[in-house]
Amino acid sequence: MATDVKAAVFEVPALTYAYEALEPYIDAQTMHLHHDKHHQAYVDNANAAIAKTPELAGKSAEEILANLSAIPEAVRGALRNNAGGHVNHSMFWAIMGPNAGGAPTGAIADAITKTFGDFAQFQEKLNDAGVKQFGSGWTWLALGSGGLQVLSTPNQDSPISQGLHPILGNDVWEHAYYLKYQNRRAEYLKAWWNVVNWNEVNKRYAAALKK
Ligand code: MN
Repeated sequence: MATDVKAAVFEVPALTYAYEALEPYIDAQTMHLHHDKHHQAYVDNANAAIAKTPELAGKSAEEILANLSAIPEAVRGALRNNAGGHVNHSMFWAIMGPNAGGAPTGAIADAITKTFGDFAQFQEKLNDAGVKQFGSGWTWLALGSGGLQVLSTPNQDSPISQGLHPILGNDVWEHAYYLKYQNRRAEYLKAWWNVVNWNEVNKRYAAALKK
């Protein structure tokens, strides 16, 4: 008897704003390709790995990433990359929006000032980590036991796998910026602050503080 294991486990979340809503900072064509094609591929690959591994059915992507060493070796690499890609991008769409940007608000504003001196120094630190990430990866603000920290990760590696809670992150894969910015990653990183949705970042910070 063939078992039907085609049921999707993970799904790409729909954008809560239009593809062109982040113009002129992120162009609509990049958003279409990035959300509909790249993120979908991570989801499809993660679901294929789960389908081959019945003991993982029902686990959240975050649970998988939090304890990669417990994942069967045959699918560990695939899930590190693709469950990682799914979680990273799901956050990415949520923390951006139209009519956003500007200085941070709420509790995250105070925490950024306390940790990094001021918003400008924090931006510089995050941008610098993004510029220096060799090849593909992400630049992050994450909460750990020592408080807030900036870090970068290669590929689709998640701070969750280091025991950290990602609060905010920018994608420095070329697919995130190449159509509009070509090789000018630093320019993209600078422009990206104009689309950061601080309300959503505050929600993630509040949730991370409770974990
Ligand atoms: Mn991406």
